[in-house]
Formats: sequence, C-alpha cells, structure tokens
Amino acid sequence: MSFASRIAHLRTEGAYAVMAQAQALEAQGREIIHLEIGQPDFDTYAHISLAAIRALTSGQTRYNPPPGIPALRRALAEDAGKRRGVTFAPEQVVVAPGAKPLLFLPLLAILDEGDEVIYPDPGFPTYEAAIRVAGATPVAVPLTEQTGFDLDWPAFDQRVSPRTRLIILNSPGNPTGGILSERTLEHVAQVARDVDCWVLSDEIYARLVYEAPAPSIVSLPGMMDRTIVVDGFSKTYAMTGWRLGFGIMPQPLAERMDVLLVHSVGCTATFTQYAGLAAVLGPQDQVDAVCAEFRRRRDHIVNGLNAIPGVRCHMPRGAFYAFPNVEAFGRPVEELAEYLLEQAGVAVLPGTSFGANGQGHLRVSYANSIESIDKALDRMARALAALG
Ligand code: PLP
Repeated sequence: MSFASRIAHLRTEGAYAVMAQAQALEAQGREIIHLEIGQPDFDTYAHISLAAIRALTSGQTRYNPPPGIPALRRALAEDAGKRRGVTFAPEQVVVAPGAKPLLFLPLLAILDEGDEVIYPDPGFPTYEAAIRVAGATPVAVPLTEQTGFDLDWPAFDQRVSPRTRLIILNSPGNPTGGILSERTLEHVAQVARDVDCWVLSDEIYARLVYEAPAPSIVSLPGMMDRTIVVDGFSKTYAMTGWRLGFGIMPQPLAERMDVLLVHSVGCTATFTQYAGLAAVLGPQDQVDAVCAEFRRRRDHIVNGLNAIPGVRCHMPRGAFYAFPNVEAFGRPVEELAEYLLEQAGVAVLPGTSFGANGQGHLRVSYANSIESIDKALDRMARALAALG
C-alpha cells in the first residue's frame, strides 16, 4: 500500500521520540531524569477538574456548536482581549481540541499551492508540518542567540516575497524561551501590511513570562484584520491531556473554521469546555504561583548550565525551556543528546528537533522539580567533562 505525498515529509515530534527512548531505558531499570517534556509537572488545578465533573454529572455530554459553547467564546473574547489591550468579539473566538488544530485548520483555510509561509527556526515542529500538509512552501527564518532569540531581521527581510501569504510567530517561544521585542513586532506588522499577508501568532506561553509580558502583534494598528492569535489551556492551566485550545481571528476566517471543524473533529468535548470556563472565570492565583515556581527553576537551571565548562546559556524570558549552546563540544547535538541519555540518564532534546538552525543547542525543559534539576545538572556536568 502507498501513501499520499502530502504526508511523506511528516516525522514525529522529537519530544515524543526521546520520551519513548527514555521510557525504554526505564523499563530496563535505569533511572532517567526527564528534561525533554514540554508540559507542566503540576496537576490541573482542583476547581477546574471539579467543574468538569459537575458538567459531566449534569448532562453536558452531548454535541455542542463546532466553534465552541457560547459562554466560553464570550469569556475568552473578554479575557484574551483585556490581556492584549484590544476588543475581541465572541464570534472571532474558535475553540478546538488543543491549540494544535488551530495551527493546522487556519492554514488549510488560507494557503494554496505556491504560497510561501515564513516561520521561526528553531521553532515548534508543527509549523513546518502544517505548512507542508496545506501544500504551501515553508520558508524558515533564523532567530539570533545574541538577541535572546529574537527574529533575525536581515534574514527575515530577505525571505519576504510577493508569494509570502503567512508569517508565523511564536512568543514566548518554544524551544528558546525568547520573547519577540515590540520593535520586531512593529517591523513584522509593517511587512505584513505591505505584502498584504496573514500573521499567525502562537501565544500559548503568554502567561508564563518572568520579567515583563510578551507583547502581542494583534495589538498593533491594522493587525486585527490579518492576525490569528493561537492560545490554549495546556500550559497556562496544566491541562495538556484535556485537549482544549482556542484561536482568535477575523470573523470571516472564524466562520470558515466552523466548517473545517464540522467536518474534521465535529466539536470539542462539552464538559472540557465547562472546565475551561471555570479556568478563565475562576481565581488565577495558582497560575501566578506556578509562574513564580518556574521562574525560580529557570534561574536555578540557567545558572547551573552556565557553570558547566563548554556550556553557554541565554536567560529565557518565558515558557519553561532553556536552550543552551553546546557548540564547544564539537559534536552534532543529536549525538550529544543521545550520549546524555545513555551515559548520564538525562533526557534532553537536540536543538535540531526544532529545525536546522537548532544545531549547536540542546532544549532543556525545566518542568521538573529543583531536586531533579540539581541531580540532572550534576550528572550532565560529569558526563560532559568526560568528553574533554
Ligand atoms: N504551540 C507551541 C509553541 C507548543 O509548544 C505547543 C505544545 O507543546 C503547542 C502549540 C500545542 O499545544 P496544545 O497541547 O494545546 O495542542
């Protein structure tokens, strides 16, 4: 049997592959420290889970409108608008089973063959996958380590063409933890207006920021009409397994999402959306507490990594990833990540899991306890010292 060429390029996410490898070692009795995983290590906050149980036991178990229950769309429009200093209409909000469908379906709606899409490299692997499945041409733009992984402006300008139909941004970014500056967003907005293209701004880590909020391009003049904001519950409320995300976009595009959702997933689980409603309308103190804890871990792991000879690590300003530079060891990072897993029992991802420009870096998730981080740093320092 043969398969369609549109999926020939698809590979799994590096995080899933390394986790499977780590689990295989654990099955052999090895103790592995997991720094490869991209999800909060906290349980979903109790009031959110209780709201889901209440919804289940009160009969919220049937189909609901494809773009989401009206109460959640209203609450998200208000909350997301307030946080970004703009006014969204509930009709602009589209709820989906996770943020991931909102990286796929809008691309199917706006891209044709021959269209070009600029996306960050290193960046979340789903961007390139979605661009290719949509039949468009991916155009990777590098981020620069010296600027805390902001966009490389000259490279970006070079890659813009009359065929550019979409620019994908991710801030705070996976895998770097970098935040795009206000100036960069203004520049991208100017370009998007000049070439009349869409912008998809993946802001799923927007609530996990440590010094200052990450500005959103949708707040800039003229950008409301061409921007798709993608956000979700996975990272903010520790709800990765619930599958609940949302996008906010111009209403005509939201209406097309409605039909794409009807024919693909139908709708998002009803009781899950009631849990989401409780998350948005309820107390936010646990989000703030988790953010403070991530900040403590960030400072700890970045200081620890920088103390290892040969490792240089920029201070990330959001998300829960550090992206240390390990070029000094003179080996491909795939080999280095494998070595750390096998020899030190520490699972990290090679930067190249996020694109060719991730060469020379590892992605280290600090969604783990300080104790485990300390142990991992100690093991990594010893294993890397042995490389000479
Ligand atoms: N966007 C980025 C940058 C991510 O890192 C992730 C998950 O790791 C997602 C989107 C997907 O989020 P969800 O689990 O809500 O589909």
